Amino acid sequence: MLYYSKKSKVAHFPGCHHLGRVLVDNAVLLDTWSEARRQGVRICKCCNPVWKRYKSEQRTLTTFCAQNGLAFYGQDGLVSLKTMHSQWKIAPTDDGGIVLFHRNTRYKKSDAQSPLSGYHLQNFRILSIIDACQYVLDHDAYRLHTPAAKDKQSGVKTGSPKGSRKWRAQQKRNKKKERRDAIKRVLFIFDQLESERARG
Ligand SMILES: [Zn+2]
Repeated sequence: MLYYSKKSKVAHFPGCHHLGRVLVDNAVLLDTWSEARRQGVRICKCCNPVWKRYKSEQRTLTTFCAQNGLAFYGQDGLVSLKTMHSQWKIAPTDDGGIVLFHRNTRYKKSDAQSPLSGYHLQNFRILSIIDACQYVLDHDAYRLHTPAAKDKQSGVKTGSPKGSRKWRAQQKRNKKKERRDAIKRVLFIFDQLESERARG
């Protein structure tokens, strides 16, 4: 539940110290923060639970993320997390908590209902942003090490006799994949630098 005044276009959670002023200006009631997003209403930085956590964890986060190859930045009242393998956003819940959204890798019908387009809610209760970072790292490690996921991700197949046409084609594909991965790594480093620059 959030309140906002049409004058300010900023929504507040109950209990915010700015709320008194908003209620005087004919406050509008919104059920969810995603509704606020749809209407182009910004969430107040003082009472946005994501922003509160971001501010209090920023220092620890900077160290943790640098050590573990995570990029993070805050934008539009959300915090984005990015690794070599996955992308995430931390969003507020409607009761003042925080939740983790995972970027879709393929389209599912249920994704249309997601309040964050292109992302689905990760069913995991988080209390802090560091919590979320740890979860993201575990998630990546799991995806990279379970056999089913590994086959798809590494794309490296052997089996055809060395020197055969099939074998050469596979070598070519592997080379291409290596090049793609190298580009991905470079882009990721740019992202990290960019997010550091944005924090100043
Ligand atoms: Zn507020």
